Amino acid sequence: MAIASNAYDRLSSPARAFLDRQHGHFIDGRWQVAGNSLPVLDPSSARQVSSIAAAGEAEVDAAVGAAHQALQRPAWRDLPSLERERLILRLAGLLERDAGLFAELECVDNGMPLAFAGINVGGAAGVLRYMAGWASKIAGDTLDVKMPFPGSQFFAYTAREPVGVVAAIVPWNVPLMMAVWKLAPALAAGCTVVLKPAEDASLTALALAGLVAEAGFPAGVVNVVTGLGSVAGEALVRHPLVSKVSFTGSTATGKHINRLATESLKKVTLELGGKSPTIVFDDADLEQAIEGAANAIFTNAGQICVAGSRLYVQRGIFDRVVEGVARRADSLVLGAGLDPASQLGPLINARQQARVQGYIERAREGGASLLTRRQSPQADGYFVAPAVLADVRQSDALVQEEIFGPVLAVLPFDDLDEAAALANDSAYGLAASVWSRDLGRVHRLVPRLKCGKVSVNTEGFPYPGLPEGGTKQSGFGRDLGREGLDGYLETKTVLVRVS
Ligand code: NAP
Ligand code: MG
Repeated sequence: MAIASNAYDRLSSPARAFLDRQHGHFIDGRWQVAGNSLPVLDPSSARQVSSIAAAGEAEVDAAVGAAHQALQRPAWRDLPSLERERLILRLAGLLERDAGLFAELECVDNGMPLAFAGINVGGAAGVLRYMAGWASKIAGDTLDVKMPFPGSQFFAYTAREPVGVVAAIVPWNVPLMMAVWKLAPALAAGCTVVLKPAEDASLTALALAGLVAEAGFPAGVVNVVTGLGSVAGEALVRHPLVSKVSFTGSTATGKHINRLATESLKKVTLELGGKSPTIVFDDADLEQAIEGAANAIFTNAGQICVAGSRLYVQRGIFDRVVEGVARRADSLVLGAGLDPASQLGPLINARQQARVQGYIERAREGGASLLTRRQSPQADGYFVAPAVLADVRQSDALVQEEIFGPVLAVLPFDDLDEAAALANDSAYGLAASVWSRDLGRVHRLVPRLKCGKVSVNTEGFPYPGLPEGGTKQSGFGRDLGREGLDGYLETKTVLVRVS
């Protein structure tokens, strides 16, 4: 099957104009073009559609310096919290105004279907709106303190203060959404930010910087530097004026960043990889479970940290469920994100394509059965046909390692104890979903699952008020929700002697 690569012709003229622009770094409220450039490829055609600037240490230092200065200036430091809220809401409104452009850019940069890109842009605006409301609700406690000093009286309170300059380092899989998950709470808390998007998908972060300026944020409050993780990202993590690193990406890079951050005792939030299980019991609504299990792994071609990449099905219904998921996989239309018919886009780059195909090939050589019938198309883009593989062992790489592609490993289980043991037999602990009509069964299993989020009879959609994050090798700290905000606040204790 060939994939048409003329989808690029569908781009709107504002999107073309954005791609044709010379992109720089957004530092201290101004665009600065510096350093080498990196090509921006459309993963559906492997064609270069734009280029971005590659920051070195000097640009990173300028961006962190600007963020540090902005933290001290009254324009941000003394801004009433209701004005901070108003600015964040204005940014949300501008994003909604330009939603079409952002969706196109995300689509051509990352490869995701346009409809999914649109959902993400709307979701990112929703996260800004949710976090904006927290700006005016940050509060500490008042405490009654009785010291053993006769005749003396004390009182004490705690204040919540912004942690300082935040380095936000995000991946390419849902680029705008990941950036906003960091940016929105950091701004609500009164921090300043240097955002380093992924080299493979930086365009929407740059477009967002344009809206930050238009919204009227003081210069230096939000800075965006593009470039290589090993250069720009690392310089950011090492920078002495950065107080907090908020990272989403691979476990290996997260560990490296955590080690670097320890040198200067920076605060760190890590949202890392996953190998999340979908568990289907024999009393579940099977049609819903089949659809949910398929969506959990094939949405965004499996390039989602909480992707349900392991499917455990109770033995009596195993064949029916697995067959249903495989047929759904075969029915998905592969195509360029800009093609309205596309339900499954390409992977992000050639390296990921080869890596994902390698997992499928090695599993088959090891005896796994491929239940899907689709071949990966011969096309210039980085397409991989969805794959459902059975006859695998729990210890196989296919079951244990994060693949980050449309690849599902399926295994049977007999009872709740076995389901819990198999689900937890993973280095990761990000998410799980459980499908059953038996509430008792569900609530016996939920406390036993070692992960940050459990979805019951649904896939694990993010929602601005619900914390997202993991345990074990999936990291620590949370994005979204009140806990997401807490990660950008310090507590100051104030003890006052009044007599
Ligand atoms: P990654 O290497 O962890 O990259 C994530 C971010 O960190 C990018 O902005 C990256 O910049 C930056 N970075 C890389 N090395 C760095 C360093 N030494 N210091 C500071 N920042 C650094 O992940 P990836 O290459 O995009 O994807 C590889 C694997 O990560 C995937 O196969 C998947 O398993 C996992 N992943 C997980 C998630 C998730 O949400 N949990 C998301 C994406 C990927 P560059 O873009 O320039 O490398
Ligand atoms: Mg790209």
